[in-house]
Amino acid sequence: MKPHSPDQGYDLLERSIRRRVIAASAAVLVTVVAHLAHPLVRTPDMRVVEGVLELGGVIVTLLLLLLGGPQIVRTLRERREDADRAHAERKQINHLFRMTEMLQSADGYADANAVLGATIESLLAGFGGALYVFNNSRDRLELSGSWHWPEPDTLRPMLPPSQCWALKRGKPHVNVDAPGALRCDHHLGTATVLELPMTAHGEIQGMLKIATPHPDAAAELGRVQPLATAIADAMSLAVSNIALREKLRTQALRDPLTGLYNRRYMEDALSRYASLTERSGVPLSVIMIDLDHFKKLNDAFGHALGDAVLRETAATILSGLRASDVACRYGGEELLVILPECRLSEAAAKAEILRERIEALSATHDTRITASFGVAAIPESTRSVTELLSIADGALYQAKEGGRNRVVTAPSREPSVLPLAAE
Ligand code: GH3
Ligand code: MG
Ligand code: MG
Repeated sequence: MKPHSPDQGYDLLERSIRRRVIAASAAVLVTVVAHLAHPLVRTPDMRVVEGVLELGGVIVTLLLLLLGGPQIVRTLRERREDADRAHAERKQINHLFRMTEMLQSADGYADANAVLGATIESLLAGFGGALYVFNNSRDRLELSGSWHWPEPDTLRPMLPPSQCWALKRGKPHVNVDAPGALRCDHHLGTATVLELPMTAHGEIQGMLKIATPHPDAAAELGRVQPLATAIADAMSLAVSNIALREKLRTQALRDPLTGLYNRRYMEDALSRYASLTERSGVPLSVIMIDLDHFKKLNDAFGHALGDAVLRETAATILSGLRASDVACRYGGEELLVILPECRLSEAAAKAEILRERIEALSATHDTRITASFGVAAIPESTRSVTELLSIADGALYQAKEGGRNRVVTAPSREPSVLPLAAE
């Protein structure tokens, strides 16, 4: 039977009760009339008529109650079910509102994942969930979080969008482990999985997966699909906002041409490392790098090639550094590398390796590409972070003066005051 709204159920009940009251009232009226007529027309025959009418009235009333009772109970039950359904829907809507509100305050993917996990647990109890979001270059999706996934080993840490029907079509897709079913290449395991692409601002932001080990998984997933879609929609806006915020953060820290940190970030990083060095006594080195005759290169081959050489130089430098080292574009064709926990001699050796690698770029461009290097360190060159850069710059100037394409290490201070940690 088609479910009614609580108001429709109430109307039906009222109409049914009204019908029965009218019928019962009519029966009682007939009995009363017979009673009133009784003293006026009382004959022996009338006593029989009276008895029959009274009995008839009672039987009719009983019949009405017997026939109407089950329908009243049924209507009441339906009304109760409608009210329960409406209550559950109201609860879901309230939870979705709360989820959206919480997501607006999410500071990053970790916060958003915590909200999503709690929502899945509360609104999709018994189902597993997994969230994939695009990486920065938008060439693959990375697993951002998962909750109660039926077969955890079957969740891939990343997947290319070209392998996914939901992402290719921009529509929900169900991956079923059944013969003849159209499955995505990334789908592993036996659980049936509903995949919902998450779209915001006209772009796919990621994908929400919902899975269940239930024997009638397809029907169960079909039942929760509208709710899962509402969750995915709320989440997609949050993911888009977080991605935008991360992009802005990166842009504020990085130089767009080379991808290296910018000068502002470098100044922050240097003062952080310097205070660590002052407290713990661990050494700190810097290498200042300046491309040789870069103006001539631009003039001879154009600015575009100059840009390409700058990008390649940055990549060459990054490939030769530790993950903890910080490479920055200091300005123009000048670059700076901060090497925490690195002594002057080690930094000089590293600079020599970088010099050789940059010189090797000459072969690719069929023109001479070289750079000059100035190296300085705390505590060997100075104890002061404000002096460190100018000492490195002085060494770089000497490298230029000495003929370029070379590394000059700043002179060490008095050996008696070294090292810092020993004092
Ligand atoms: P030196 O060996 O003395 O360092 O000579 P140089 O020509 O490299 O030095 P100079 O300071 O005279 O010129 C630096 C040149 O670097 C000039 C400028 O056009 C170029 N340059 C700075 N930033 C960029 C950039 O982003 N892209 C390109 N293509 N060139 C740049
Ligand atoms: Mg310069
Ligand atoms: Mg230069």
